[in-house]
Amino acid sequence: MEKKQYPLFDALLMNYRAYIIMDDHCPNLFLSIFLYAACSAIAPYVTIYTSARIISELAGERQAQQLWFWVMVTLFSSAVLALLNSVLFHWKTCKQYPQNMYRNKVFSDKAMDMDFSALDRQSTIDLRRRIDLHHQFRSWGLLRVVEYYETLLNALISILGALVLSASLFLEKVPSTAGRWTILNHPLFAVLIAVILLFLCLLAPKCSTKSENIMVSFTKVYEKSNRFFNYLANFPDERDRSLDVRMYCQEKSFDHYWKKMNTYGDYRDKNSLAAAHLGPLGLWKAAGSAVSMLSLAVIYLFVCMKAWAGAFNVGQVTQYVAAITVLSQSIAKLLAVFGELKNNAVFLEDTFEYLDIKNEMYRGSLTTEKRSDRQYDVEFRDVSFRYPGSNQYALHHVNMKFEVGQKLAVVGMNGSGKTTFIKLLCRLYDPTEGQILLNGIDIRKYRYDDYIDLFSVVFQDFKLLSFPLAENVAVSRNYDKERVRSCLEKVGFGDRLNTLPDGEETFLYRDYNVNGIEISGGEAQKISIARALYKDSPFIILDEPTAALDPIAEAEIYSKFNDIVGNKTAIYISHRLSSCRFCDNILVFDHGSVVQQGNHDSLLAEEGGKYHELWHAQAQYYEEAKEDVVS
Ligand code: ADP
Repeated sequence: MEKKQYPLFDALLMNYRAYIIMDDHCPNLFLSIFLYAACSAIAPYVTIYTSARIISELAGERQAQQLWFWVMVTLFSSAVLALLNSVLFHWKTCKQYPQNMYRNKVFSDKAMDMDFSALDRQSTIDLRRRIDLHHQFRSWGLLRVVEYYETLLNALISILGALVLSASLFLEKVPSTAGRWTILNHPLFAVLIAVILLFLCLLAPKCSTKSENIMVSFTKVYEKSNRFFNYLANFPDERDRSLDVRMYCQEKSFDHYWKKMNTYGDYRDKNSLAAAHLGPLGLWKAAGSAVSMLSLAVIYLFVCMKAWAGAFNVGQVTQYVAAITVLSQSIAKLLAVFGELKNNAVFLEDTFEYLDIKNEMYRGSLTTEKRSDRQYDVEFRDVSFRYPGSNQYALHHVNMKFEVGQKLAVVGMNGSGKTTFIKLLCRLYDPTEGQILLNGIDIRKYRYDDYIDLFSVVFQDFKLLSFPLAENVAVSRNYDKERVRSCLEKVGFGDRLNTLPDGEETFLYRDYNVNGIEISGGEAQKISIARALYKDSPFIILDEPTAALDPIAEAEIYSKFNDIVGNKTAIYISHRLSSCRFCDNILVFDHGSVVQQGNHDSLLAEEGGKYHELWHAQAQYYEEAKEDVVS
């Protein structure tokens, strides 16, 4: 898909916005670049100027004192500038090292601030991946702006310096004794040379912009294959998948895709980037270099003709040639950057589309009154829900009410809507129709953070961090050691905790610490339950809380559930109906609807009901298993 080119003014505004974003996130980065660019642009002119004075003195009056003076000035200024340049370069490098990290921070801040429903949308995920791919390909996007800033500054300062040093080239007159060379004094001649140089300066960046445009179109062509390539390349090392890859020899199925990738983006393919380097891309680049050389030739010719005719001496020849060369190169650089700003704008469009994703969830201002009596009741009033982009309802007309202190179980087959029900309760999504009420008030009217704070959830696919154990439990570097210990003990992790080398400071996993520990799925589940307990919210929600636990650990957790949960309102989602028996209220989901509600005995008594069917299907399985063990 071809992307539109932005007009220069729009492109400038977009790149300026990117500059502001990076400047906000990277302290002193642009200041360090400014000082370095200024110093490195000025330095050559000082040397050009002073060495021209030395050569002039040598070729002219040869006064030892003057010569000595200029040699000393040259040495001293070169040394000071080299030192300053080096210091500024190191400072700039220090500031630039973390620029990628700061760039990532821009996106992670946005992700944290975004409505969960927007973050979870496939189009948002695709957009973010596209931005990262373009960044990996040629730093397109935010980071390019840092590069442009440096080049622009350097070019502008160089142009100023070159103009100062070369102005007299056009003013110095050939002596009238020079015969027909005096034509060089004619103002039209100087204008002609300036026009030719300007034309060549404009032409060179045009060529390089053409080759850059081809690169941009390749970035789009390679977008899909690069994304897929990343997927294939990282597939075997991903910890979650490495077992499947090994046991099913999945690398064989990759072969097919590797070959496909080859024909899609192979370097020998006639549509490939390499072929373009041999063809138009390379030709435009070569043309750009040729034009630059041509402008150099024109400069030499003009300066040498004037020197030959006696307008100035050999020392000034060096000064003028060097200054005009830098001038034409800097103008070309400046124009090339303007061309590139337009290309970068095409990629910044994606970046801004992501950063401008609006939060559409209404966030009210009511506080949830941190009630010491923890008196909360929750009601789903005719709630229906469709995931964004889906035309299937995941929940239909759900009506239910539960009160604080109740133990609620949510049961049903896979895909029946249990997790969606929890996601709505936790306000990760808003209902498509209907209302959820907390103490009789629509949950949208509460302050979002306050409301979220009411829930401690252990999701089925929870993730722990490769940080110390206590930080995982407390979700903070500052934690209450005793409380961490007590939560871990409550969930049956106490014995293991006592064996850990650094106690609760022991790192989980070895990603960031060689002394980290590997934990089993069951242990991870216990830690995640301890994390939910530490949060100490009035509602605790456990989605398949014992799926990864062995039968003994499961029995242990269940026997302690009342103790663990205390006076909190607890919601359990479980396939194992036996583990829901002790709940006051059981919701039975089927195809997105609540088909039954009641306690275990009343539900079981409804023959032909879903609960009865599920219970007997599981009971039969347990009975058969028990018989097998006995026989
Ligand atoms: P359960 O927890 O009972 O297994 P879920 O609530 O996860 O069921 O899923 C209910 C329905 O919603 C399923 O049909 C599932 O495919 C669909 N669903 C779940 N998550 C998403 C999502 N992020 N986008 C679109 N559909 C989804």
